[in-house]
Amino acid sequence: MPDSHAYVLGKPASQNLSLVDAGLTGKGSYKIQAIQKAGIELLSIKRVIMTHTHLDHIGCFAEVSEQLPWAELWVHRSEADLLEKGDERAVYGMDMFREFCQGQFGLKPGAFKCQVNRKLQGGETLDLGDMTWEVIHIPGHSMGSIGLYHRPMKILIPGDVVYSDYAIGRFDLYGADPAGLKESLMRLAELEVDILLPGHNQIVKGLPKGYILKTAKQWEPYLS
Ligand SMILES: [Zn+2]
Ligand SMILES: [Zn+2]
Repeated sequence: MPDSHAYVLGKPASQNLSLVDAGLTGKGSYKIQAIQKAGIELLSIKRVIMTHTHLDHIGCFAEVSEQLPWAELWVHRSEADLLEKGDERAVYGMDMFREFCQGQFGLKPGAFKCQVNRKLQGGETLDLGDMTWEVIHIPGHSMGSIGLYHRPMKILIPGDVVYSDYAIGRFDLYGADPAGLKESLMRLAELEVDILLPGHNQIVKGLPKGYILKTAKQWEPYLS
């Protein structure tokens, strides 16, 4: 299973940085090392914001949070409520996958039960390290998927909703909703995006105009 990208948001001088997504189980020390290699002080990372709680994004949260015990966890409320109840359907997506992953990684039931410090709902404007980021609720790939958008620099972090190469996230797992995904794509298509920082695969700088709309149109026949 592929690891997800993790992004660090904020101006380093602010000492108020945010880690967006953690990554797959077992990748925690690699992520921490990569952050340190980039010259970022761990103490300046104040929170971890999840684009959604699939295993490839939240899997190594516990490992990361051992190194950043002060960091808060921010998640969209619909998936936050599940985490707090120890309901892991949104983490694994499907039963077969849960069994496979629990075997593969030695994960016990309840491994992802945790408190969420801030439950996002979409529509918030967050000041993250002297940068303003808008939270957009974009369900469809998962029920609590969020996008983060920095309007001044036209940067979009869409989680697993849209990738490079006209690809979109899968829409067959627990909490997914093809019609909702179409709506979310149309919502993102309204934004001016220059830099696309997706959950996997290539990062795109200089995203062609109309890229997300074109992607949504290509997938439309499958999203109803
Ligand atoms: Zn996902
Ligand atoms: Zn993913």
